[in-house]
Amino acid sequence: MEKSYKADVVIAGAGLAGIVTACELLERGRKVLLIDKDNRERLGGLARESFGGVHFIGTPHQKRLGIDDSPELAYRDWQRYACFAENDHWPRAWAKFYCEHSLEYIFHFLQGKKIRFLPLVNWTERGLFGPGNSVPRWHIAWGTGAEIVKNLITALETHPKRQNLELLFEHEVNGIETAGGRVAGVLGRELSSGTEFRAAGEVVIASGGICGGDLSKVRANWFREWGTPPQILLNGAHRYGDGLLHDKVAALGGNLTHLDKQWHYAAGVHHPARRKAHDGLSLLPPRSALWMNAMGQRIGPLPLISHADTRWLVESIVHQPGGYSWQVLNWKIAARELAVSGSDYMTAFTTKSKPLLLKHLLLGNNELVERLLQECPEDFVAADSLHELVQKMNERSLFDLRVDLPTMERDISEYDAMIDRGPAFFNDEQLRRIGNHRSYWGDRVRTCKFRKILDVRARPLIAIREFILSRKSLGGIQTDLQCRVINRDGMPIDGLYAVGEAAGFGGGGIHGLRSLEGTFLGSCVLTGRIAGNVIAGA
Ligand SMILES: Cc1cc2nc3c(=O)[nH]c(=O)nc-3n(C[C@H](O)[C@H](O)[C@H](O)COP(=O)(O)OP(=O)(O)OC[C@H]3O[C@@H](n4cnc5c(N)ncnc54)[C@H](O)[C@@H]3O)c2cc1C
Repeated sequence: MEKSYKADVVIAGAGLAGIVTACELLERGRKVLLIDKDNRERLGGLARESFGGVHFIGTPHQKRLGIDDSPELAYRDWQRYACFAENDHWPRAWAKFYCEHSLEYIFHFLQGKKIRFLPLVNWTERGLFGPGNSVPRWHIAWGTGAEIVKNLITALETHPKRQNLELLFEHEVNGIETAGGRVAGVLGRELSSGTEFRAAGEVVIASGGICGGDLSKVRANWFREWGTPPQILLNGAHRYGDGLLHDKVAALGGNLTHLDKQWHYAAGVHHPARRKAHDGLSLLPPRSALWMNAMGQRIGPLPLISHADTRWLVESIVHQPGGYSWQVLNWKIAARELAVSGSDYMTAFTTKSKPLLLKHLLLGNNELVERLLQECPEDFVAADSLHELVQKMNERSLFDLRVDLPTMERDISEYDAMIDRGPAFFNDEQLRRIGNHRSYWGDRVRTCKFRKILDVRARPLIAIREFILSRKSLGGIQTDLQCRVINRDGMPIDGLYAVGEAAGFGGGGIHGLRSLEGTFLGSCVLTGRIAGNVIAGA
């Protein structure tokens, strides 16, 4: 028998965006039904696995470091990086709003939930062919995304009006109902029993992006200029990020935009605890490693440089033979520079251990390197000689492509020889960039000082086989600045709202082509807060 529920507002999806929307609605006395397809343990969606880096402009943290930032500078950076099209009205409006209000709407809100940020502000996406972030803006939540989610769940569970909130887990929303020319609720089914349900109320779509699931949506919406997607793509997004509710919104006339703009990462490896064959883990690629193609040739002519322009890394690798790559480095580089994007592996951050963090910064994170070598033998190899390393790489080569030892030895030796000649003679862009990164002390602690790959004192040698990892949908359901879903005639659909990644993080594509990083979590909070306030009439 069908079950029915009634609330002022029904939220489909209990990731960060859905939870923040619920917080705001509870605060304003509304009755809320929060529905998620996943189980209770995974309440919070992707944010609970995230590193917890958030893009803010004008924080006390920046000021203490002498970083002079402003909404005007940030918006200029954002627009340049996004390459908005002429008609990108809503994405541009959202980007401007983010830059002008990140402190008030995101930073202070999270601080109010007892979330603290590390004093060291990181400098992501500096840009490669033009400026990205002109100054450091990536603030890491102490305790990572897991802490953000934990504190927000506590805020919900201990809210004085908690009785106004009902949570349903393992319930899939699979339809949107209309009545009298407006959206009036949702339809769905309970996963375990198959029992169908309907829930009446205003509807907020907070179901995340389309970059997870079986990746068919990623392939179908692949950026045309990049040709065909690589044969192997790893999944670094939500298992239920299948775009089901995007399709339902589109069927109601809602406008989906920028679906071909996806934020993938270049350094994905197979997840050791994967549930599906292609679940992946995203590495923060070491700056001092050499990036080679499947034949062991250094990718060029401009060498691949990490932490400058993520989209360019991905674009370069998808055009390489086999669509995958190798990063070649040694133990000392790995211990100092290797990191994983996610809360599970960054133990010092997740457990909030200052001594451990200090130890990793001073002595390197040897435990992480050991763990990755042990847990990811498919993609990580170590050896005491280049000959042995290449042998192990070739045991993992794909599509009949083979790493050529003489080619790899030549490219590495040329790079090492330049380091021997000294900084005055560096005409390799990677080395010049490393010098530039080391000039900001926040990056210096995590960047080796021009380390040669074949240095015998730094062995074993390590090679990491890396794939493109699908992570975030930059496009999605178009919304206006009140989070109302916009139809294909440019008009809001009564009673229907979208937030977070489902809404392309605001406006159906707040990032345009590229993100300055940390803007994902930030936009989930921003859109969730605005939707909650608008619906409650505040
Ligand atoms: C490992 C990792 C690291 C990251 N690090 C960062 C970072 O440092 N900084 C940053 O800004 N961003 C980061 N991100 C991205 C960020 O975490 C996400 O973009 C953001 O959390 C998305 O939140 P959301 O609420 O919009 O969607 P989601 O978290 O995807 O939540 C959507 C929810 O909807 C549910 N759902 C889906 N379909 C249905 C349906 N039909 N019915 C009912 N429920 C449904 C899902 O089960 C899920 O719980 C990271 C992501 C990952 C995976």
